[in-house]
Amino acid sequence: MRIARFAVGDEVGYGVVVDDATVGANGTAAAQPAGAAQPSDGGGGTGLSVSEIAGHPFAPGTDGPKLTGARYPIEDVRLLAPVLPSKIVAIGRNYAEHARELGNEIPAEPLIFLKPSTAVVGPGDAIVRPVELSKKVDFEGELAIVFGRLCRDVPPARVPEVIFGYTCANDVTARDLQAKDGQWTRAKSFDTFCPLGPWIETGHDPADVQLTTTVNGQVKQDSRTSLLIHHIPALVSYVTAVMTMLPGDVLLTGTPAGVGPLVAGDSVSVYVEGLGTLTNRVVDAS
Ligand code: MG
Repeated sequence: MRIARFAVGDEVGYGVVVDDATVGANGTAAAQPAGAAQPSDGGGGTGLSVSEIAGHPFAPGTDGPKLTGARYPIEDVRLLAPVLPSKIVAIGRNYAEHARELGNEIPAEPLIFLKPSTAVVGPGDAIVRPVELSKKVDFEGELAIVFGRLCRDVPPARVPEVIFGYTCANDVTARDLQAKDGQWTRAKSFDTFCPLGPWIETGHDPADVQLTTTVNGQVKQDSRTSLLIHHIPALVSYVTAVMTMLPGDVLLTGTPAGVGPLVAGDSVSVYVEGLGTLTNRVVDAS
C-alpha cells in the first residue's frame, strides 16, 4: 500500500495512493464508500488517485487506514514529504563501490550519522545549494526505511515488526565541508538536504531491488540493494541498540557508487524499484 502525505487547498492530510484501474480490486479501495469515487482526470494524467485517510496512518491497533471517502486525482494534489520524522539516522559507506570511489575503507561496523528533521523536503521541492558556504553539493540516492513503532534494542529477527514501509531519499551532502570538518553534521544538515518521497510503500521487499539516480535524465547511479554491506535487519538492530526510534523516524541505508555534484537548474531523480521516483530541482541560495 502506498501512503502519501498531501496538500489540497489549505488542507494537509494522509492518503492511500491507488491506481484508478484497480479501484475495488483490493481491500483498501474496496473499503471506499460506494459512490465516493470521483472520475479521474479524463485520461490525460497518470491514472493515480489519492484516497484520504481519516486520522494518522501510524495510529497503533488499527487493521489499516480508515478512509474519509474523499478521493482526488493525484494531479490535483501536492505531494509532501510522506513523513515528518523526529530524526533521520543515516548510514555512511554501506556500498563497497561507493566507499572506494571516495577513497575510504569499507567499515567493519555500520557508520552512522544524523540529519536533522529540518532538512526534510518533499517531492518536487527545491534543493537549495548553500553557495556561500559550499562549492560542491552532491546527490546521494538511497533507500529509506520508515519506522512504524517506538522501538529500542530490536533483534534482527524482529526488525520487520517495527518497519512501517520504505521510501526514496536523497542524502544531499556538501562534500567539501564533509572533508574539511571531519564531523559530518554541517555537510549533511543544510535545510532541503533530505528530500523524501514520493510516498511510503508498506508492502515493499527491499532485499534486492534496483536503485537508480539520474540528473537531467542522465543515469549517474545504478545499483541494487542486494549490494548493501550491512543489510536492513543488521542496520536497524545496530541503530536501535544506540537510540530509541519513534514512529515516523527514518533510516537512510547508504548510497551506491556514482555520486556527483549538482548545479542550479538540475533536476535530480532517485528511483527505487517497486517504490517510485523522487524528483527535485536544484537552486542556489540567494
Ligand atoms: Mg548517504
